[in-house]
Amino acid sequence: MTATAPPRLPMILEEVAAVRVDRISPSFVRVELGGPALADFGVEGPLYDQRVKLVFPAERGLPSVAGADGTWLATWRQRPVEERGHMRTYTVREVRGSGRDTRLVVDFVLHEADGTAGPGSAWAAAARVGDRVVVLAPRRGCAFGGIEFVPGAAGRVLVAGDETAVPAAAGILAGLPPHRRGAVFLEVPVTADVQRLVGPPGVEVVWLPRDGAPLGSLLGPAVLAHLGAGSAIEEPAEVDPDLWETPSYSSSGEPVATAPAGGSSHLDDLYAWIAGEAGVVTALRRVLVRELGMDRRQVAFMGYWRRGVAG
Ligand SMILES: Cc1cc2nc3c(=O)[nH]c(=O)nc-3n(C[C@H](O)[C@H](O)[C@H](O)COP(=O)(O)OP(=O)(O)OC[C@H]3O[C@@H](n4cnc5c(N)ncnc54)[C@H](O)[C@@H]3O)c2cc1C
Repeated sequence: MTATAPPRLPMILEEVAAVRVDRISPSFVRVELGGPALADFGVEGPLYDQRVKLVFPAERGLPSVAGADGTWLATWRQRPVEERGHMRTYTVREVRGSGRDTRLVVDFVLHEADGTAGPGSAWAAAARVGDRVVVLAPRRGCAFGGIEFVPGAAGRVLVAGDETAVPAAAGILAGLPPHRRGAVFLEVPVTADVQRLVGPPGVEVVWLPRDGAPLGSLLGPAVLAHLGAGSAIEEPAEVDPDLWETPSYSSSGEPVATAPAGGSSHLDDLYAWIAGEAGVVTALRRVLVRELGMDRRQVAFMGYWRRGVAG
């Protein structure tokens, strides 16, 4: 393709390589992904929780993206997994460099410690400079989607999540205007995973290291205490592994653009963004929406992963 040829796709779909790998803490590996195609990376406005898709190699390496057009994804899905590799979702923690030296920083959670490493975690654990993945990412000037943090005119923001949401919370904090007020709650595996995040002075960041406590056992109570709610948090028996409830999409098929049945509440000026393990997020959603009557147009609840479910 010549430098002047128009792009074939309204997104970046290219092989990129790890150009730097750092084990930043016990549970996180930070990888800078680089490649000339990333010169075209761009989003309108702050990155916030911008997500991208990464394809990790399987037995037969990475799927080819040469000459990919609008049919690539559908064709890719039909190929056997050993050929197509493994697609997973990650957050752009940061963008470094510019032009052909543009690098996407991705912070990978290592979750092999509990014996459940998937292809994403395993790739990051072994990553060396030069290792390659396929990335699907926003192309400058084209609509890609993938940002769910939309606080509108809310007076306060609440961001809450587990370790998989730390990169998104970092992006949200970095993108918030200086006058924003609010709180961020982040549950991470161990104290040594706590990072220094930079955000507006009026947004408090609270780290909740589990240090052996069960997943979700600190996040729920901390969020409820912050909201002045006393309800007990209980994970429901049935959890949608693809939980995704935002003002524009409901994985359960609920109508989304409605005001709360109970009229106004003390949470009317709050916008809440909550992501992490689907069972933990479902339990929080139940309390915030059903019991505290939060306006569903002011909340985004996202299952970033589900215990025992791959992909
Ligand atoms: C919008 C979005 C943004 C995300 N951003 C990030 C990010 O920036 N960094 C990041 O690390 N993750 C992020 N995630 C979560 C990530 O996509 C999942 O954790 C994914 O399952 C990891 O793939 P895998 O191949 O390692 O494991 P899989 O093959 O998907 O799963 C294998 C096994 O590991 C378990 N598992 C998966 N993830 C975890 C975990 N975190 N802890 C413990 N067990 C786990 C599964 O339950 C399963 O039993 C994001 C998810 C979404 C939807």
